[in-house]
Amino acid sequence: MLLLAGGRVVTPDGVLNPGWIRVAGPVIDAVGPGDAPEQPALELRGRWVLPGFVDVHVHGGGGASFTEGTEHDARAAAAFHRGQGSTTMLASLVTAPLAELEARAALLAGLADDGVIAGLHLEGPFLSPARRGAQDPRHMIAPDVGVFERLRAAARGHLRVITLAPELPGAARMIEAATRAGVTVAVGHTDATAGVTMAAIDAGARHATHLFNGMRPPHHREPGAVGALLDRDEVTCEVIADGVHLHDIAIRLAARAAGPGRLVLVSDAMAAAGMPDGRYQLGSMRVTVAGGVARLLEDPADPGQSGDPGQAGTAAQAGTAAQAGTAAQVGAIAGSTATLADVVRHAIAAGLPVPDVAAAASTTPARVLGLGDRTGALRPGLAADLVVCDDDFRPRAVMRQGEWLAGGTVPCGLALLASRVVGEQQDVRPARLRLAAPQLRGLLGPGRAAMRTVSSAIDTGHRNQPLLWTEPVSGPVDDLTSQTTVRTPAFQACWFG
Ligand SMILES: [Zn+2]
Repeated sequence: MLLLAGGRVVTPDGVLNPGWIRVAGPVIDAVGPGDAPEQPALELRGRWVLPGFVDVHVHGGGGASFTEGTEHDARAAAAFHRGQGSTTMLASLVTAPLAELEARAALLAGLADDGVIAGLHLEGPFLSPARRGAQDPRHMIAPDVGVFERLRAAARGHLRVITLAPELPGAARMIEAATRAGVTVAVGHTDATAGVTMAAIDAGARHATHLFNGMRPPHHREPGAVGALLDRDEVTCEVIADGVHLHDIAIRLAARAAGPGRLVLVSDAMAAAGMPDGRYQLGSMRVTVAGGVARLLEDPADPGQSGDPGQAGTAAQAGTAAQAGTAAQVGAIAGSTATLADVVRHAIAAGLPVPDVAAAASTTPARVLGLGDRTGALRPGLAADLVVCDDDFRPRAVMRQGEWLAGGTVPCGLALLASRVVGEQQDVRPARLRLAAPQLRGLLGPGRAAMRTVSSAIDTGHRNQPLLWTEPVSGPVDDLTSQTTVRTPAFQACWFG
């Protein structure tokens, strides 16, 4: 049993301030308001405790991708996002040649088998070139049930969501086939009218891929896919609330129209998330990231367009694919460089209530994946997936299925995060302790004292949980400003000053 107490606990029934959570093994045993019912408890001192985030649209992060590279890379991308609070995620693929998509689906199915990801999202290839965004139009094809079945077979039962443009020929049959197969159909990268979108929903489409982005802008007499998707209660709507892809007004309008039960916050992150500016790959497309904004560097449909993207990334404004095929895509906003934690923080800053944001980042997407009875809320019986955030909603510690994850930072300024104790398991990675806040360094005192406290914490039997720093000391911390490695027979840790 592990008791977390003193935090602002965000539950489906509101914020408990303070509140407590008791974790038993991999699940939440109990949640309650007020002071900790028993000792010892991990004191969270006013930190926010949110349910672990569920990201249903993510291509990569931390320099690695689901869309290309090795299996190791894909696992690294998942680990990066997990460490940032996304305890559940789909791996999203972009449009690519069929054989390549099949190979990627097969590779990612292995990760899903291992529980690293919750499944796959195919963002393509049945998309409209007119609203291609940063995807490669050369490999976009009309919906084809045979192709879909090949991809589904490659994913070995792990295909969860497929994005398609419902105005393309064959879309209705495809929507029905996917829905029958238990795959959620998402409307996206589409130039569909409201009427066509309504028909797609009638046929079974239930989700919107990054609402507004990759869709024709809504007009009051032709509200387009955006209007139809917001209008229908059975549809959940993704928004990339990162401050780049949407104006804050659009975020608030979507949130009000959809409500927390239908709004789904996504990162749409690419490899560049968590990385410095530079050049990156998104599927077959080269992307440049400047000031944290990813833009398409070239358009393979129009080789003369290669160059430095300067203008705002507008998807083609033209009404037909033929017209749009000639429109410049260079400079189009590509996937984001945000984590879902960044999106959560921005959505709250944009004015969305914290409980609504938690619903949109965790509860509702968990339901989209059919996992609502397993994760997505701080509720007894669900997985102990949670994110401890500071006042600015930056993740300080992440727990997945009752285990603190490596690479987290300090949960409450006085606690050190130790994810693993060497010797406890066969495949042990070095546990990493990260001293995050400068004020913490002031409390830690000389490195030797810090090491002594870590050792004593190990000796007193703390295992696989944050080590509470119970005796703050003052004094110089020069020997902790550079990376110091602490080794004991049972413990290995890296300190980051
Ligand atoms: Zn995407």
